[in-house]
Amino acid sequence: MREAMIRKQIIARGIKEKRVVEAFRRVERERFVPPEVREQAYEDFPLAIGEEQTISQPYIAALMTQCLELRGEEKVLEIGTGSGYQTAILAELAREVYSVERIASLAQRAKTVLDELGYTNVKIRVANGTLGWEEYSPYDRILVTAGAKELPKPLLDQLAEGGVMVIPVGDLLSQRLEVIRKKKTGIESRTVERCIFVPLIGAYGWKEREK
Ligand code: SAH
Repeated sequence: MREAMIRKQIIARGIKEKRVVEAFRRVERERFVPPEVREQAYEDFPLAIGEEQTISQPYIAALMTQCLELRGEEKVLEIGTGSGYQTAILAELAREVYSVERIASLAQRAKTVLDELGYTNVKIRVANGTLGWEEYSPYDRILVTAGAKELPKPLLDQLAEGGVMVIPVGDLLSQRLEVIRKKKTGIESRTVERCIFVPLIGAYGWKEREK
């Protein structure tokens, strides 16, 4: 099923970067979804992971990963650990991954699975990720996997010069997946896709009562 997902949902839709495809081949997605939806682990849509949150559709996870242009040496900040699946993909492709999740039960479950699978280059923290994770900044790459209403300034500040951030930005119902490049001369951004993510909550994000 994993191979069929890779062929039909990822490669057929234009994700051709070899390292990205190989990472999706290696990571067992079924390990990251709750037992009641395990049979749907390779389906072409997001799945509920509890606490009103979702694991992204495989294609969107692959697209975001490809946009990060990881070569293997990067320090990556991820906001929205969720199930930990995307975290595992990043850990396969980068040197170190720092992942922030605001819901403690999700962070704990993700950490348990990532530990069981033997990832030693991942650190997870329970906090409001719109503030980033100052301690280990700057980051070569930042991936936000919840929908932002605007670019959180602390994340831009914690992105290294020459770094890339991938982030969904828009309203609560739909967002633009944006690729932001931080250059000496300023910020460059381009939209690569329309997408729908659960909201990024907190300072520099949506208020709990707005969602
Ligand atoms: N990448 C995840 C998908 C996560 S869904 C996966 O592969 O499973 C988005 C996650 O972002 C949710 O778990 C949600 O709790 C979290 N989130 C929302 N706002 C956040 C914030 N301000 N800081 C950290 N995590 C946040």
